[in-house]
Amino acid sequence: MKPFDYLIVGSGLFGSVFAHEAKQAGKRCLVIDRRDHAGGNVYCEQIEGINVHRYGAHIFHTSDKQVWQYVNRFVEFNRYTNSPVANYKGKLYNLPFNMNTFYQMWGVTTPEQAKQKIEEQRQEVACRISQPRNLEEQALLLVGRDIYLTLIKGYTEKQWGRRCDELPAFIIRRLPLRFVFDNNYFNDTYQGIPIGGYNRLINALLEGVEVRLCTDFFDQRDYLSSLAEKVVYTGPIDQFYQYRFGHLKYRTVSFLTEVLPVANYQGNAVINYTDAETPFTRIIEHKHFEMFGAEVDKTPSTVISREYSTEWSEGMEPYYPVNDDENSALLAQYQQLAAEEKNVIFGGRLAEYKYYDMAPTVERALRCAQQELAL
Ligand code: FAD
Ligand code: UDP
Repeated sequence: MKPFDYLIVGSGLFGSVFAHEAKQAGKRCLVIDRRDHAGGNVYCEQIEGINVHRYGAHIFHTSDKQVWQYVNRFVEFNRYTNSPVANYKGKLYNLPFNMNTFYQMWGVTTPEQAKQKIEEQRQEVACRISQPRNLEEQALLLVGRDIYLTLIKGYTEKQWGRRCDELPAFIIRRLPLRFVFDNNYFNDTYQGIPIGGYNRLINALLEGVEVRLCTDFFDQRDYLSSLAEKVVYTGPIDQFYQYRFGHLKYRTVSFLTEVLPVANYQGNAVINYTDAETPFTRIIEHKHFEMFGAEVDKTPSTVISREYSTEWSEGMEPYYPVNDDENSALLAQYQQLAAEEKNVIFGGRLAEYKYYDMAPTVERALRCAQQELAL
């Protein structure tokens, strides 16, 4: 008999939820991670008493009541509401596009005036563009010139490293416009950050489960696989097959993190820089995810991260899958091999090569565990 029922490669949300469920069902699990900490990309590092989201700002949001109740069983969530602000050449605008933004942009004070203004601007382009051929035309048709030039063009070009008239229109098929004074970025019923940080959620999920850190599956593949009846693999699918058909591509982000000797640097967790000249896309001030009102001044310093969109190359963190035709075809080849595996389950955003937010990741891991444990 092998010492474990499951070897779980990766201690991110997918691996941790699966491990918890399997343990509850009486299974013996070994979780390994190549990093020196558990949690995957939701991991936070404590700096100056502040939880710093090392792999990018993470805001939990969902309308799925079951998933919300599930994560709240392990840790209570706070009331954080994502309300990013845009800075365009020193002038501030609220996001998402709503009555506050329209007032800041044009001085309009009623929904009717705002709708009229947007309609005027749409009409300017509607006569020459019938079918949008690129992102720029799509944005002009949806929101008009002022919003496009101030809040979309520079940000999007920095983020994608390409001009908006060279980007496909589908990226912004929908640009929600709200004719109410509401700066809540998400439409979901539930959102927040775990009180005390994401590590608490991960630690609670992994409680009682054996975890080996700094352990790369590929350094001891045969040995580690021999320890368990089945492998749950949450790493990159192309690596599992030694890149035999080629590398799947990703987009990545570089973070420049600094401790500043001020209690409150920008007054908000997220400020987007939407002009073309500022080299970074946004600044995250981490304390605002968990400290509200007067609490902000309780720590004398603050931690900020500037985010730079970066072209991905081997050895960098794989963040966002590039789901274009070429990469989708490559993925299909790997998926064909994966479908033939009897004792390997592929799950999570790297093994499925799909961008999943945290809530859908939890939901998929729960579903996967239910199916597997019912066998
Ligand atoms: P991961 O968290 O990537 O975990 C995979 C783990 O596998 C890693 O720990 C890795 O070290 C390990 N691993 C890989 N290969 C090996 C190997 N060979 N051996 C051992 N271990 C290995 N979601 C939201 O809901 N809200 C947000 O605001 C949000 N912001 C995001 C910002 C950024 C920049 C990114 C990239 C993602 C964001 N997400 C957000 C998505 C969120 O990070 C994912 O939904 C979640 O992390 C997926 O969990 P996972 O377990 O599938 O993958
Ligand atoms: N976007 C923009 N200006 C902003 C914020 C977002 O034009 O200030 C556009 C941009 O094209 C981006 C898209 O909206 O690619 C989605 O951005 P968001 O930050 O919501 O999602 P993420 O980048 O995390 O996928």
